[in-house]
Amino acid sequence: MSELRLMAVHAHPDDESSKGAATMAKYVDEGVRVKVVTLTGGERGDILNPAMDLPEVHGRIHEIRIDEMARAAEILGVEHEWLGFVDSGLPEGDPLPPLPEGCFALVPLVESTERLVRSIREFRPHVLTTYDENGGYPHPDHIRCHEVSMAAYEAAADYRLFPDAGEPWAVSKVYYNHGFLRKRMQAFQDEFARNGQVGPFEKWLKDWDPELDVMDSRITTSVECAKYFGQRDQALLAHATQIDPKSFFFTTPIEWQERLWPTEEYELARSRIPVTLPEDDLFAGIEP
Ligand SMILES: [Zn+2]
Repeated sequence: MSELRLMAVHAHPDDESSKGAATMAKYVDEGVRVKVVTLTGGERGDILNPAMDLPEVHGRIHEIRIDEMARAAEILGVEHEWLGFVDSGLPEGDPLPPLPEGCFALVPLVESTERLVRSIREFRPHVLTTYDENGGYPHPDHIRCHEVSMAAYEAAADYRLFPDAGEPWAVSKVYYNHGFLRKRMQAFQDEFARNGQVGPFEKWLKDWDPELDVMDSRITTSVECAKYFGQRDQALLAHATQIDPKSFFFTTPIEWQERLWPTEEYELARSRIPVTLPEDDLFAGIEP
């Protein structure tokens, strides 16, 4: 049997556990080789878990995030590679402060693209996942993740580009992660109401930017992966400094999620092979 390979490109450690994690665990379980490539070290991530907001954590956030990522990869069963760029941080304030010197979002695109091309040519994935042009959320590293991924998808297949970065490899398909869906949130909110409880999504649903609703019309591919939601949550919790175990990520019972929304959603962004949409498998149409 020839093997299938999936590469998931993410901006920060923890992004892999909140976007498409159950899909990865499922493919690993089915014998697919899955590799997460994390572009930055997440050095500028805020400590979002009050229990981890300790002086000894602040001094060594970089080392701690390396350990957390290793643990999450182990839980999901994926291979992992750091691409070695430095977190740009989420600029806040009015006017926005300039991005910190040397950060990932300021690295010339050709330089970051070459590094990802090298990684693609080495692992030779059939499918690559990344973020859409809005980054899924407007963090400069997420938008850059999109730009680098799309540039590397093209360049990795082109023997004229980066000839020193390995033998050309043509990735068959690229998908965007689309986990943040109004319909999904509404389904859970309604279930809380049916059970006589107030759901945690009221403010999200009320403030929803109609622009983001277009995501519903962009989805091409829903992957059934309910069996792996528990693994997804464990991987997310492994990022202990970044994730408050009391956050809304964990308030919807897994049994409801399995019943009401057993899939993870994707948008097919590029394909070098013929496809029939909609699909329920990222590898549909690919012969290894
Ligand atoms: Zn991120």
